Amino acid sequence: MAFSPTSGVDSRALVAPVATVEDRLRQVCHVALDMDGTIYNGHSLFESTAPFLSLLKELGLGHTFLTNNPSRSIKEYLAHLKELGIVATEDRLYTSIQATIEYLQGTHPRVQRVFVLGGASMSRELSAAGFALTDDSPGDEPDAVVVGFDTTLTYPRLGRAAWWIRQGKPWFATNPDRVCPTDLKTVLVDCGSICAALEAATGLKPTAVLGKPDPAMIRGILHRHGIEPHQLAMVGDRLYTDISMAHRAGSLGVLVLTGEATAEEAARFDPAPDIIVSGLQEFGALLRNGRQNTLLH
Ligand SMILES: [Mg+2]
Repeated sequence: MAFSPTSGVDSRALVAPVATVEDRLRQVCHVALDMDGTIYNGHSLFESTAPFLSLLKELGLGHTFLTNNPSRSIKEYLAHLKELGIVATEDRLYTSIQATIEYLQGTHPRVQRVFVLGGASMSRELSAAGFALTDDSPGDEPDAVVVGFDTTLTYPRLGRAAWWIRQGKPWFATNPDRVCPTDLKTVLVDCGSICAALEAATGLKPTAVLGKPDPAMIRGILHRHGIEPHQLAMVGDRLYTDISMAHRAGSLGVLVLTGEATAEEAARFDPAPDIIVSGLQEFGALLRNGRQNTLLH
């Protein structure tokens, strides 16, 4: 998507009163960035992304890329970003599997053995975090079931997961998405749909669903950097995930119109985004403007 040059602040970009948003922007020291639809579209990096990241560095603001999709490992995401021209380190990435791991470690410390519906990457991340992965066997009892976007799903493992859930094991979903967007001629059945099958088969709902819009990912980033919710701006293209998560975490929600949501949908959405911008270039102008005004005061 092409961006028109931005000179100063477009007053139409601000939903809340100008002073309120400016005050909140001045407190931001870290920017969490959704990926698809926000910094790139599929395999095309938006032309505003690299200048925006340079601007964050110049302004002394940190940033983290985050994603609900747990089917790729951190290393795979870093490789994908590098292909697009963005060099990032592991501490700049946060996925829903990390949120799930930190949630389990923080709130369910007795869960150490897990039966996983997830791909090889997700299983590796759980193993690396110290969880023992149980086999598909009624004799290998887990403490919990963890369900992700499992592109290697098999009928026997789906049935075994349902059986453990029926036995009363807590079960956790990495993300609520029912489908993963694709331009392929297929439907990528995502974690939410696999969970719907498990719910139908067991009559039981997941113990917790991590990933956006749950605020666990933002909380993980806040914890990692030792900052408060109001110091983080969450930038994304989806209202019901990115903006809802920002609202639930108490962070600034910034909607970019470079992906899924339209301005019309944003106008009707509750909670309204704190800021709506055409893209990262316009948000960068707001950040720069806020800093310049601070210097003048
Ligand atoms: Mg997105």
